[in-house]
Amino acid sequence: MSYDLKQLFEVVGEVQEIDYRLNLSEYELFGGKPFIRPVVVSGKIENRAGVVTLRYRADFTLRLQCDRCLDEFERNDHVSNEHVLVNKLNTDNDEYILLPDFVLDLDELVLDDILLYLPSKLLCSEDCKGLCEHCGQNLNHGSCDCCKTAEKIVDPRLAALGELLK
Ligand SMILES: [Zn+2]
Ligand SMILES: [Zn+2]
Repeated sequence: MSYDLKQLFEVVGEVQEIDYRLNLSEYELFGGKPFIRPVVVSGKIENRAGVVTLRYRADFTLRLQCDRCLDEFERNDHVSNEHVLVNKLNTDNDEYILLPDFVLDLDELVLDDILLYLPSKLLCSEDCKGLCEHCGQNLNHGSCDCCKTAEKIVDPRLAALGELLK
């Protein structure tokens, strides 16, 4: 959603409430379209003593593929953020959001904040066990026969060497 904030910039004490759903279902990321539900954006923009501040929270659900075990999983998460909005830059503080025509495109900002927040490695859980490198079995679902056999036939001297190489 975009907001014309000309009046808010001019009138100290003005508040703009934010509460809407941002549909990103067609947005492509990580080789898919992970935003399976609209992002819930809520917060407010406020002019306090001439300083215009946006505070908001965005709740989102992503369906992603685990980088380690390749299973699909859903992740519920949120970002909450605060940005100072300015009409012109009189400092070189690049944390400010510059709005030369007083128009804020909040959709773009929310999406940028979410992308910055997401980790580069996507795991279904911190302790995901991944796939067996021999048979491809997903080890989160149980160990495979070749892993069991491999454990049995490992020569103790090789195992010691393996420890050294870790
Ligand atoms: Zn996983
Ligand atoms: Zn296996």
